[in-house]
Amino acid sequence: MVNEKGAFCVKIEKGAVDPAMDIQRPQKQTMSAFEVSLRFLGTGSAFSKKYGNTSALLTVTPRGGVSRTLLIDCGRTTPDDLARSGYVWTDIDAIFISHLHGDHIYGLEEAGFMGRYVLNRKPHLILPDAVIAADLWEHVLQGTMQQGGERDLTIDDYFTWETADPDSLAFSFNGLRIRVYRTRHIENKRSYGLIIGDRPNIVYTADTLFDEEQLAAFAAQGSTAIFHDCQLLHFDNQVHTSLDQLETLDASIRARVYLMHYGDNLEQFEQRISGGGFRIATRHQTYQFEVGASPV
Ligand SMILES: [Zn+2]
Ligand SMILES: [Zn+2]
Repeated sequence: MVNEKGAFCVKIEKGAVDPAMDIQRPQKQTMSAFEVSLRFLGTGSAFSKKYGNTSALLTVTPRGGVSRTLLIDCGRTTPDDLARSGYVWTDIDAIFISHLHGDHIYGLEEAGFMGRYVLNRKPHLILPDAVIAADLWEHVLQGTMQQGGERDLTIDDYFTWETADPDSLAFSFNGLRIRVYRTRHIENKRSYGLIIGDRPNIVYTADTLFDEEQLAAFAAQGSTAIFHDCQLLHFDNQVHTSLDQLETLDASIRARVYLMHYGDNLEQFEQRISGGGFRIATRHQTYQFEVGASPV
């Protein structure tokens, strides 16, 4: 199927899980359903020259309602990847940032400058916590964006922004509750993944070390798809999850995992990846799901 952007579109079976495992069955509750889709602008690691920095457009559509699009991460290659996919900045309603690494944030300068000087429209940022919000401006963007004429500019001159609610660790996007959760990535660095919707939901880990318990908990909580960071070769002192580690997961969890944030050596691993029951998140493809939604 071809979507309105002329891109090949993969329809994923909703809630496709092993019927033998009761915990995997999405529970029918009194929740309304939302259609969500993830379209990948890039699927590569920080250093990828072939696949771009991992980022995706999450489009959320309430039943019978209007679609809104959230850009998940905005890395060094994202502005070019966005243009190559046929999108412009005004197609994006908000930008979520998982953590402060260049492959997830270095595209924000273009977003801010385009908004202020070309489009007359401030991009809206959704940040996981107040520390990341302060650090994003004070330690990253301020250096190149503060100077603007008569006075020093601030983050508020370029962006509108919010943080996830510190108590519920969630934010609302187009009426859908999206939770953030802390990941272990770099010692002393804050980093977060996303749980999109409720029973069923989909998970987007962003950058994380392997956490088997967390993945089992996601499966038990109705996660039908888990978009997971994957480093293809295992290194000592690694800061990502390696393919060997993901291969230790139970088959019913592996079947939900889509690998992303991989290196340019992907082709050498494709057979092993499909043999392990994983899927590969692919650039310019759109993955569609239905998720449950609690009231927000
Ligand atoms: Zn990264
Ligand atoms: Zn990172």
